[in-house]
Amino acid sequence: MPASAFLLSTTIRFYYESYQYNLMIRVFNAFGKSFFRGNSDLMIFNNFMDTFQVEKATCPHCGAKYNCAYFSSYSRNLITFENGANTCHNISITRVICNSCRRTHAILPDNLIPYGSYALSFILTTLRAYFLGTKTVTDLCDYFQISISTLYGWIHLFNEQKLIWLGVLENATVSPIKFIDDISTQMISLNLFYKTINVSFLEPFKTIQFNSS
Ligand SMILES: [Zn+2]
Repeated sequence: MPASAFLLSTTIRFYYESYQYNLMIRVFNAFGKSFFRGNSDLMIFNNFMDTFQVEKATCPHCGAKYNCAYFSSYSRNLITFENGANTCHNISITRVICNSCRRTHAILPDNLIPYGSYALSFILTTLRAYFLGTKTVTDLCDYFQISISTLYGWIHLFNEQKLIWLGVLENATVSPIKFIDDISTQMISLNLFYKTINVSFLEPFKTIQFNSS
């Protein structure tokens, strides 16, 4: 298993979500430091939010800088796989408001997947185990305590987004495990993926059109 090697620069990007006014601020500086190192996703999230400076954010709608303020928060689940257990945490997502355009934006660090409860590291760890092929699908799902349909949904989405990212020719030469390992070592940038595809990696495409928050 590769060691996580790089620190991502603190890059704030903005995600215009669907046709509605629900925007989010995705921040890609938390995930890469800890992937495959066994760090708690909950700890990563809490540490990130403890240090995130709302007043320094730039509004993804109007582009105003240093003019956001805390607005509200909402609860969502974060499902992690740590110490051999599938664990559901309830976390609080901060929503900020732009004082220029009055739009609100959720703050999401990169170990979260928009509209998904499972931590990104959980899904990639599960997929890596699947592609290694050392366990049957049934045993794999029992181990990670997920349904078979959930696993196949992840596999489908992974394959679909890997193909989009790499293109047909390169996709044929890059194994799924190498792709996952390249993400874990940040040879593949989740930030660049998001910027290019306009969807977070492993975020279902349909949420772009139909979900609202
Ligand atoms: Zn604004």
